Order: sequence, then structure tokens, then C-alpha cells
Amino acid sequence: MLNFTVGPVMSCEEVRTIGAEQVPYFRTPEFSKIMFENENLMKKFAKADENARVVFLTGSGTAAMEAAVINVFDTKDKVLIVNGGSFGQRFVKICQIHQIPYTEIKLEIGKKLTQEMLDQYDGKDYTGFLVNIHETSTGVHYDPVMISEFCKKNNMFLLVDAISSFLADEFDMEKLGVDLMLTGSQKALACPPGISVIVLSEHAVQRVYEKTPQCLYLDLKEALKNGERGQTPFTPAVGILRQIHARLLEIEKAGGVEAETAKIASLAADFREKIKDMPFEIPSESMSNAVTPLHPLNVSAYKIFETLKDEYHIWVCPNGGDLAEKIFRVGHIGALTTDDNTSLVEALKDMQNRGLL
Ligand SMILES: *Cc1c(COP(=O)(O)O)cnc(C)c1O
Repeated sequence: MLNFTVGPVMSCEEVRTIGAEQVPYFRTPEFSKIMFENENLMKKFAKADENARVVFLTGSGTAAMEAAVINVFDTKDKVLIVNGGSFGQRFVKICQIHQIPYTEIKLEIGKKLTQEMLDQYDGKDYTGFLVNIHETSTGVHYDPVMISEFCKKNNMFLLVDAISSFLADEFDMEKLGVDLMLTGSQKALACPPGISVIVLSEHAVQRVYEKTPQCLYLDLKEALKNGERGQTPFTPAVGILRQIHARLLEIEKAGGVEAETAKIASLAADFREKIKDMPFEIPSESMSNAVTPLHPLNVSAYKIFETLKDEYHIWVCPNGGDLAEKIFRVGHIGALTTDDNTSLVEALKDMQNRGLL
């Protein structure tokens, strides 16, 4: 199997070996040590401030999105949401459910966020800004520097879902003034799904301690307090946290976040070069290194996904809803190589010869 989806992605051998081991009991100093190291490496890779904290939630990325929103905003806030696809829409839904006043900046598929769009909301008393910095559903990466400047100028709390962008695209939490960022275990961390990670700046930590969300499991105060001793309030996905530990150490040993981002960027560039004469259009104005969205000119995108899966044992990422027939995506995160890119391109060329592309 060769997996080019955007999560779960392929894991390295060490991570898979840990997955086959017995799961240890976790209220121990040994497990706490792993959690402290996980926290320190996440802070380092996100380039968070010295007093930042990290919470590891057992739940997929959406759990972290909801936890983040309800722990820092309430009905007295007024937030702006960049809605460029299904993940932006998820923030809208979360705000609706929790009655947080919001305005959407709705983007057409594949379009980037522009300064003119932001300018409309300048000086309008918004208190927060919610963005999926890489809208994975359409493969559009928004400009973090432009967003950062707008939020600093307007004194807005900046909450960034970087689930599919973390490690794949350059990101400096402190420099950008990002108050809170979140990611998940099954994207570029290349572990099984089940853990989401929230990095809170010192400012965000203070904010969390001032609020009481209407939820027991996702109350981050408990997670932060327990985290001071390397523990979690409830039984976490212990095995995945051990896998994350191995993976973070692996990244550190190979040169840290810069080296990992460079590796993903070069895989993406290699793939984009190899397919440049094939019958595809790239339907994104601004791509992340994590994903290449492709619009096939002659055939259904969903059919390509099915044929690759059933006849070549290669997985790419199909799109849902209105985009299913139009777009599929090729991921560049996880344990992939340029040889793997060649295998995928050869399969596509074979399909072309068979009249299927
Ligand atoms: C993958 C992803 C999520 C999380 O989805 P889950 O299925 O809940 O893990 C959220 N936001 C973005 C931008 C993503 O790419």
C-alpha cells in the first residue's frame, strides 16, 4: 500500500513498532517524562513563547478546534472566520452551537484570502480571528503574515488551525503573534489518529484560566493543571502519545522543524514537477507544501481515486460533496519518498495509456 492521502498518512517503522507493543499504565513518572518532552518539542517546533503550554487531547483534530473555541471565546466576543471550505465551515458550526457571535469571510473554491477582504473588517471591534491556515479541503494556504498584521493592528485573539500545515509550512507562533495553534496526530506528525495538540501562548493560557466552558471533557484548565506534572485529567491515548514522542525525537535528530519542512517542500516540488505535462489543472491560488490539489481535465476525479485504490493499491485523497467529481488531492506528508512519487506518477501514466485519464 502506498498512501498519499492527507491523513492518516504513512508512519515510519519506529512509530509502527510502538503501535504493536502493549500499552503501559500511565500514572507513572516514566510516562510524565514522555509528556514533558512532548510538550517541550511541540513548543520548540511551533516556535512558541517560553511560557507557552501544550495540551494533548484524546480526540481527533475537531476536538481541539472545539476545545480551543469554547475555552477562549464566549457570547460576549465577536469573531471573524475565514471560510474557504469544509474546515472553515466547521469553525462556523462550532460558533453556532456555542452561540459565539461571528462573521464569515466566505471564499470561492481555490481562492486565497486578500488584504482587500480583510480591510472591510478593519476597526470593527472584532475580538477574535479563526482560520484554518491551510484549508485542506481545497488545498489553499493563507498568508500567515498578512493575517498576523491584521490581528495585531486590531488587537484580535488569533486562533490558528494548523492541523495539516504544521511541519509542512513555515510557521513561527511567537513572531506571528498567534495566540493559539492546534494540530493533530495523523497529519505531518505521521502517527495514528486519536490525539490532537493545542499550543497555547502565555496570553492564551491566561485567557483559559479566566473562562468556564460548558463542557467537562474539553475544559482546558484541567488539562493545563494536570500537565504541570506531565499528566492528563482522563485516560489518554497512551500508545499514540508514545508514538508522537518517538516521532518528535526523530524530527529533532534529523535537524528539527526546518529540516522536516524542507523535506516536505522538496517532496511537493518533486511531485509537481513530475506531473506538469499531465492533463491536470491545479485549482488553488496558493498551495501548502502538504498537499497538491488536482483537477483532471478529461475524467472524473473520484474515478481516478477509485482506480488507483482498486487497481494500483495507491491511495490519494478524494474530495467530498460538490467537489467529488472535480478535485482529488495528493498529500506530501508522512513517510514518503521521491521514489514513491515516481510510483504514483507511473500509475497515472499507465492510466493515461489505458485511456483512463
Ligand atoms: C484534518 C483536519 C482537521 C481535523 O479533522 P479530524 O478529522 O477531526 O482529525 C481540521 N482542520 C484541518 C485544516 C484539517 O486538515
